[in-house]
Amino acid sequence: MDSAGQPHRRTLLAGGLVVAAGALTACSSASASLGPTAAPTTAAPTTTEVPPTTPGAALRRLVDGNKRWVSGDLRHPDRDPNRRQLVAQKQEPFGVVLSCIDSRVPPELLFDTGLGDLYVMRTGGQVVGPVVVGSVEYGPMTSGTPLIVVLGHQRCGAVKAAYESIRDGEPLPGNLEAIAKALRPAYEQAVREGGADPVETMARAQVKLTAADLRSNQDLAPLVKKGALAVVGAYYSLDTGQVEVLTGRPPAPVG
Ligand SMILES: [Zn+2]
Repeated sequence: MDSAGQPHRRTLLAGGLVVAAGALTACSSASASLGPTAAPTTAAPTTTEVPPTTPGAALRRLVDGNKRWVSGDLRHPDRDPNRRQLVAQKQEPFGVVLSCIDSRVPPELLFDTGLGDLYVMRTGGQVVGPVVVGSVEYGPMTSGTPLIVVLGHQRCGAVKAAYESIRDGEPLPGNLEAIAKALRPAYEQAVREGGADPVETMARAQVKLTAADLRSNQDLAPLVKKGALAVVGAYYSLDTGQVEVLTGRPPAPVG
């Protein structure tokens, strides 16, 4: 189903599961010898899904997880002790999410993912600077992470504050002003686009501009060009819980 690199990763995963299972067994035995208080390890592992290796498959994994979040039919994958053991020595996240600090927009929850599935960066209004861009690039550049999602959201307080600050010519206090400055290009695009709700327009503009910048930067553009990486701009509805893809949707996976 996925790319040609799949068998290798499958082998790695299978090996990891065996090691994890062995470690858990050993741990259980040791605990049992210490006394009767240790609970038996009977939970079935939830870590059998192979990490997607293509941009399209990675996005489908997130979209499927978001559907479960919207419906309430959550799977809570990759959150048990087996998973912790599996990723303790080596991580292999299939996606990078850059989202806002907003307490209502936690990527691992709204995509129904678990431990070791995602690299997550969160800043006010998902603004970037060199340190954040470097952090976003880490997975794709060092281990072939196939997907970056720039995730904006409805009623973003950072965007609203920046919009009003720039519009009124009144700088935000302290270091908050750095966020407003980083959001100025999105403000200017929102002013050009117009629309009934300029703050929402600006929030969407911020997503699209940030995703475009990442997609075309000198480190990531070569990966995008050869189809090994997609940079998706997306938007989260606080009202419905649904993530809408705005830009950069990769080809759908085969099968
Ligand atoms: Zn926000």
